[in-house]
Amino acid sequence: MVFDGTSALSHVSSELFQEKQQPLGLAPGFESLNPNSASLKLFFKLINSCDCAKGKNKTHYDKRYFYNLRGFHHNPEHSMKREDMQISSVAVWVVEVPQIAPIAPYRSHVRSSSATRSAIVRVDTTDGITGWGEHNVNFLPDISARKMQAQANEWLVGRDDLDIALFHRDCPFESRLKSGVELALWDIRGKAAGLSVAELLGGVIRSRVSLAACMGIQTYERAGEIASWCVEQGFSTLKTKAGADMDEDVEMVRGIRDAVGDRLKLRIDPNRSYSLVEAIELCRRVEEFNLEYIEQPITAEPLSEAVALRRDTNVPLALNESVVGPSSVMQILREGAAEFVLPDTHIAGGIQPCVIIGRLCEAAGIPSIMHCGHDLGPKTAAMLHVAAACSAYSLANDSTYYGLENDILTEPFRIEAGSIAVPTAPGLGIDVDLEMLDQYQVDC
Ligand SMILES: [Mg+2]
Repeated sequence: MVFDGTSALSHVSSELFQEKQQPLGLAPGFESLNPNSASLKLFFKLINSCDCAKGKNKTHYDKRYFYNLRGFHHNPEHSMKREDMQISSVAVWVVEVPQIAPIAPYRSHVRSSSATRSAIVRVDTTDGITGWGEHNVNFLPDISARKMQAQANEWLVGRDDLDIALFHRDCPFESRLKSGVELALWDIRGKAAGLSVAELLGGVIRSRVSLAACMGIQTYERAGEIASWCVEQGFSTLKTKAGADMDEDVEMVRGIRDAVGDRLKLRIDPNRSYSLVEAIELCRRVEEFNLEYIEQPITAEPLSEAVALRRDTNVPLALNESVVGPSSVMQILREGAAEFVLPDTHIAGGIQPCVIIGRLCEAAGIPSIMHCGHDLGPKTAAMLHVAAACSAYSLANDSTYYGLENDILTEPFRIEAGSIAVPTAPGLGIDVDLEMLDQYQVDC
């Protein structure tokens, strides 16, 4: 069969248009279409039947064609040209999603909680593409979705939605809001190009990303129970909070090792709660338990203390709060202050800085691990794409996703054998469920 582009476009465009009219709670634009929808299936069936779609890169061809088709629908005269397109609006929701056992109640040395709060960012463009982003707002006083939305609209509307380098150079937002918007810009850029974010970042090194199941501070018995559950679920790695009491930390680690032996890699994170002297003592007390690493037991600065801790103990050291952006990682690498670093999009300012950090670590020959701020779907998707595209994110990346009551995605990620498949659809490869946004929205 010879591909008849005109009839195919008109046929599928018509189908898509009809679906858009149905009460499916769809956002403006086609990016919210259910990938299992009849029209999308019809489209792929149509494309797969065409000679021009058959070949080495058929999958990529299909995706690109679908998204060009969407552009065609919105702007028939400019189906392939986006240079005049701009950001038309930004919306911000704050949502609070309950967490369930075994992750809840989640206790750190600072606080306890059984829910996570995120800001969900939606950026729309003048040609009808919607991008989604997320940044963490847990435990922040005076957080206001309305203020963030007003600030974002004031600066972003009318700007080029595709120039992420320019965004990073000029954007005046603090790192959280900046990162939420930046994720949405990558989502838009991917949808416009018909490529996943990982593909935009250079390619997919790994199609699945391993997760470290994260848990709060637990007793000897409960820590052992949760560790056993993690082994049953197929996780390779467990990360715990720590730092309220050193004896409690040691007993928790002992409980895990007594329950599961070395079947889990184990990390503990005291979140800066110890002095250098105390951290040296803790490291010596847990040395026998074969930790993969201890994460940021001491203050973020000065790095000379991290250097001293590494010199005086044998437990590998990871730094998290010391990692702000690429320049802080450069300093850590220069001083030899860590064997692992943990960046996060909401601290570093988005996907791009985490990729740069991954490249720095790759060049330095140390692993980087994506940190988790009790993320929902959009930020989890960002983590997956960064880890998929950068070889340095080779270890299990932090995640509390297994403990969510629900996600705000139309199709929540599935954790299988302690890992999640990297989305392959254009952009972040997710769709946000507007009804779920409404259900979990916090009025602020
Ligand atoms: Mg940490």
